[in-house]
Amino acid sequence: MTFSLHGIGASKGIAIGQVSLVERSQLEVREYTVAPAWVEAEVARYQRAVDDAKEQVRRLRQRLPRHLFSQVGAFIDVHLLMLEDDAIAGAPVRRIRERFCNAEWALKLERDALVAAFEAIDDAYLRARRDDVEHAVGRVQQILAEQVSAQISNTEGTQAPPRPAVDTARHAGRVVCADDLTPADTVLMQYQGVLAFVTEYGGPNSHTAILARSLRLPAVVGLHSGLQYLRDGDEVIVDGRHGVVLVAPGGRAIDYYRSRQDQIARHHAVRRKLLRTPCVTLDGERIGLQANVELGKDIADATQVNADGVGLYRTEFMFMNRAEPPGEAEQFHAYRAVVDAMNGAPVTIRTLDLGADKQVDGVRPGAPEAANPALGLRAVRLCLREPGLFKAQLRAIARVSAYGRVRMMVPMVAVVEELLQVHSMLQQCREELATEGVAFDANMPVGAMIEVPAAAICADLFARNSDFLSIGTNDLIQYTIAIDRIDDEVNYLYDPLNPAVLRLVQGVIKAGHSAGIPVAMCGEMAGDSRYTRLLLGLGLKEFSVQPNALLEVKQVIVNAHVGRLRKLVQRVMRAHKPASRKALVAQLNQPA
Ligand code: PEP
Ligand code: MG
Repeated sequence: MTFSLHGIGASKGIAIGQVSLVERSQLEVREYTVAPAWVEAEVARYQRAVDDAKEQVRRLRQRLPRHLFSQVGAFIDVHLLMLEDDAIAGAPVRRIRERFCNAEWALKLERDALVAAFEAIDDAYLRARRDDVEHAVGRVQQILAEQVSAQISNTEGTQAPPRPAVDTARHAGRVVCADDLTPADTVLMQYQGVLAFVTEYGGPNSHTAILARSLRLPAVVGLHSGLQYLRDGDEVIVDGRHGVVLVAPGGRAIDYYRSRQDQIARHHAVRRKLLRTPCVTLDGERIGLQANVELGKDIADATQVNADGVGLYRTEFMFMNRAEPPGEAEQFHAYRAVVDAMNGAPVTIRTLDLGADKQVDGVRPGAPEAANPALGLRAVRLCLREPGLFKAQLRAIARVSAYGRVRMMVPMVAVVEELLQVHSMLQQCREELATEGVAFDANMPVGAMIEVPAAAICADLFARNSDFLSIGTNDLIQYTIAIDRIDDEVNYLYDPLNPAVLRLVQGVIKAGHSAGIPVAMCGEMAGDSRYTRLLLGLGLKEFSVQPNALLEVKQVIVNAHVGRLRKLVQRVMRAHKPASRKALVAQLNQPA
């Protein structure tokens, strides 16, 4: 029977394929007793599962593309260590022998004991280790579940059938369906050849959703209890634009969505013709169109679409999926690779924006968990609290500024003092480098991201202390409307057209221009072509967008007449009623 599940479209595109359910070690584990004569067979079964898990992890490591090594390699190593540790390799074996229980149950008991121990210690660093335990245990449980139990076969008096080969690329070519995925999970998925993903929780502006768009993976989030209706291997169609998952689709539906896939491919082909077209509006305004990058592969995508530069380099992704943060040298080489690849075009390196939904291991071991992480020690706040960590990054950025047109951008500033502190730490780093005889560009522009309402309201103050401003609408919307961007329950309020948001955006653009500095926008609003004309009419001249949205936005820009848009946008800004504002935006989006 065909039926549809509805969530929030988080990354457009259509995928047709089979479901791969990820149950994050929540596999239901049954307990049963193993006859004494079969205990050693059960032990052997367990040990084979652990060996298979290690083999899976080793193969993942071998197949890891070089550019992902810094992001993922250390994470994989931690998993391998976990699988070799006595807690997984030895203790469950002893439990099987002592309790005459099945392998799954022995592993579950060990996992429960480990998790209880971690929770008792109440240490954030160890809690992160607990997640590693969950991942490693989940992998072994998954393999055990896939095996045909020799013990059950024995009780039925039959020969144990051969174990199925372990599927090392379980998600390849499939639609991953999970309760939730972290940005780190999503990074790992990209090299597993996943077709699309569907999650129960999460908002369309979470970092996980942003990554999905950057990876061109169709994604639907916030499906609520939809996952219970899906089974591993079900045929589904994922419509990432409309947030629909069609389960067991019939032939006509498949034909329809295949024709939509062809249509999307044709649109891409048409847009590729714009590659060499200058990004100039019909009335002659040159608009800057830069790229947002977070993963190594985005750089190639950015150059392929002829981006004017990198307007946002999210450096924190280099810190994910590893036990220790990268040091100055590793960061310098990573930044240098981006600067070299951009071949003289500007590269805006954003200082670390860790915290909230981007939690990583090893940065603040022992720190208590915040009750409201989005309002807590995030981004520049965390950097200023951890000067050792921050200085390594500032030195790496300063050093790389000697090799290209590097700009540095500070996220989440709420008070000007934070910006001034960053300036002073950067100055210290430059003095150290000068003493060491290391080259840097003393005139590297330093800008502020405007993504907290306090900064937007006082944009003139920030403008006076910055070389440029960049509006981060993802957070600006979150903090202005007081809605957690990863919470699908309040996603209905997440509206870039909210008048409060539009007034703040307009104010920031004006403040920057009055101070004579460039103002860019690098939040997702900049890459959504439904808002391009509105932003042009508000006076925005620099957009930084995901590489795969760049040509779509360019298509709108080169067909827009800014002079006419300005007048219409004034009407949008004056509209009292939501319906009339929407109607005016629709009017605005009619081609000139
Ligand atoms: C933003 O908040 O708009 C932004 C670009 O930063 P991030 O999405 O990484 O928080
Ligand atoms: Mg932000």
